[in-house]
Amino acid sequence: MKTRAAILYDLNTPFKISEIDLQIPKENEVLVKMSAVGVCHSDWHLFTGDTTHSLPVVPGHEGCGKVEEIGKNVTRVKKGDKIALNWAPNCGKCFYCIHSRPSLCEAYTDLIWDGFLMDGTTRMSINGKVLYHYCALSCLSEYAVVPEASCVKMPNEIPADIAALIGCAVTTGVGSALNTVQISKDDTVAVLGAGGVGLSTIMGAAYAGASQIISIDIVPEKEKIARNVGATDFLLSDQDTIKQIKSSETNFSGAVLTRQEKTVKGSYYGTSDTSRDFRKYADLFVAGELPIDKMISRSYDLDQVNEAYKDMLAGKGGRGIIRF
Ligand SMILES: [Zn+2]
Ligand SMILES: [Zn+2]
Repeated sequence: MKTRAAILYDLNTPFKISEIDLQIPKENEVLVKMSAVGVCHSDWHLFTGDTTHSLPVVPGHEGCGKVEEIGKNVTRVKKGDKIALNWAPNCGKCFYCIHSRPSLCEAYTDLIWDGFLMDGTTRMSINGKVLYHYCALSCLSEYAVVPEASCVKMPNEIPADIAALIGCAVTTGVGSALNTVQISKDDTVAVLGAGGVGLSTIMGAAYAGASQIISIDIVPEKEKIARNVGATDFLLSDQDTIKQIKSSETNFSGAVLTRQEKTVKGSYYGTSDTSRDFRKYADLFVAGELPIDKMISRSYDLDQVNEAYKDMLAGKGGRGIIRF
């Protein structure tokens, strides 16, 4: 079939919107008609080359859509389901999966980061030339073929914009607060950066009951949106602050680590179990506990994709959304 998609041909060149060829889903794959896709910085890392990736590539990894068609042996979703996309599909069988750490599953990592779907092939091309997938999703496209393992069914009452953000920023940020750090009542929290992930972390900290939440960003206009989602304080930093943060090493002495029980922790995809957490965050949004809608400030159509990233880089407002 034909569809329209954003394509990155070369580093540091604008995304081009073109009609491409998309094959029908194979076994354990799903054809999704996209409804909304978030404008996330990770796609921009493809543009700059900070993420090394095969080119040309169709970006997009924070999405919500409707199941249009299913391939053989698909059991997780059916035609017509509203779904959010998970960019780190897991196998369910490895050490991490069986120890409730599915976001650390590495079963498909090599294939996905080489630009393929799970069988090591692609479904997209233009004029007979292969287009590579990004995160096995490539959802900056009207239609996308994705692995069944990347599909999480969402309740129909969840707006598409919200479900899209649950696919990346919300799960990464709220998950870092609730799952990784396990912030609890009356904690004091500092959040560096008030982009999609930072704002979601603030939301998670507020939901957990933190009494002081300090949002730190270099853009003064971020203060309003950070406070809207739960920050109690805002600290305006500058390029020098960023340099200082990047140069400080975690050089706690052994005595400090021991006597003050200091912990340094990484967080990948919010230490999530996406089949559990996507639904949980959707329910918390419906219950009014996570104001995800307040972090959305702009929407665009697919043809405005370059403008959307320009606004993101300028730090304009919260998350931008591409609507289809
Ligand atoms: Zn993202
Ligand atoms: Zn696994």
